[in-house]
Amino acid sequence: MTTYPFRTAAATAALLALLGGGSNAEELAAWRLFVADHAEPRVTAIDAANGAILESFVMRGPATLFRSDSGRSVFAVQGAAGAVTGISTGIAFEDHGDHGDIEVTAPALAGIEILGTMPVHLVEHDGIFAAFFDGEGAARIFSERDVLEQRGTIREVRTAAPHHGVAVAYGSYTLLSEPNSSDPNALPVGIRVVDAGGATVGDVHACPDLHGEASSGNLMLFACDTGVLVVSREDAGGPPAIRHLAYGAALPDGKSTTLIGGHGLQYFLGNYGADKLVLIDPTADDAFRLVGLPTRRVHFAVDPLRPKFAYVFTEDGQLHRLDVVSGEITGSLALTEPYSMDGHWSDPRPRIAVAGDRIVVTDPLSAELQLVDAVTFEQVGTIEVPGLPFNIVTVGGAGKTHPGQ
Ligand code: ZN
Ligand code: ZN
Repeated sequence: MTTYPFRTAAATAALLALLGGGSNAEELAAWRLFVADHAEPRVTAIDAANGAILESFVMRGPATLFRSDSGRSVFAVQGAAGAVTGISTGIAFEDHGDHGDIEVTAPALAGIEILGTMPVHLVEHDGIFAAFFDGEGAARIFSERDVLEQRGTIREVRTAAPHHGVAVAYGSYTLLSEPNSSDPNALPVGIRVVDAGGATVGDVHACPDLHGEASSGNLMLFACDTGVLVVSREDAGGPPAIRHLAYGAALPDGKSTTLIGGHGLQYFLGNYGADKLVLIDPTADDAFRLVGLPTRRVHFAVDPLRPKFAYVFTEDGQLHRLDVVSGEITGSLALTEPYSMDGHWSDPRPRIAVAGDRIVVTDPLSAELQLVDAVTFEQVGTIEVPGLPFNIVTVGGAGKTHPGQ
């Protein structure tokens, strides 16, 4: 059964005449879901307002999805197939000073692919993307704007050896993971800063077993075996400042290997062992706060619209709401059949994204998206998606349109 639970009174695609902002300005809200199949080379674009499938894009291989900060583009990273494919989401916002405009067009392939051996980590910083190709130890750097305007302008930066790495375009500098020279199959050992000419700036910043990175506000973090590297901008145009923040003696054995950054509130959320999360505020005296979970963790996401909340899905089929200020779980909802974390790490299991007032959880084994009201924290419906709906990102929001212009 497919239901379309978006309340008509607050229908996200409704046109509402508004006062002000121009005599014929209208308010429009639109949210789109982009869902990648676990097994098939397919990304499906769905209108969140009614569950309608807008487009189904054929990829080179199964994809992991990233959305840009602006929401104008989604990138499908196809590791084994060796491609990063740009998709124009068809939703764009423009600042008109006293109001913002929204422009909605059909989602479409952007026409730009970045090719290479085994891309995995893709990081955006200030509208510039760095895709790291593990099989080459090289990063390819490109701007969202160039992709959307179909310019294949790509800059390449190389490290000493192929490895499971990461790169960040940081102003005129590039942050690069430093491969483990004694074991190329091991995780990187630190971060090297290079300038626009490719010269190394300062020493390599030690970060044993580096894996996981995120930005929040004006800070960026990399997760290490020993703590996190905190990256900040000290003076405009200069190289970033990087310091190591140790996990501290109060934490049990463990480490973070996946980080996400808060929107609207500056904080970071990471995994820490199989059944815990860690809230990180690098500016606080007590920088790390552990959050225990009832069972092992499957996936977690921050709420970009309600900055106080993040969500975590656990293997017992429950979605939990985490208050990131208090560090407490303030709601738990049985949503799907159990998804045991026994078995392969990459088996099809739920993923979480937020679209307006809906939390959307992929449920690959039932070929559905589960919809949860973000305010009441109740399940309110489903959207059917053929196959094994797995990775998901959302884009959208509200703005004005000026019909007749
Ligand atoms: Zn306008
Ligand atoms: Zn990785």
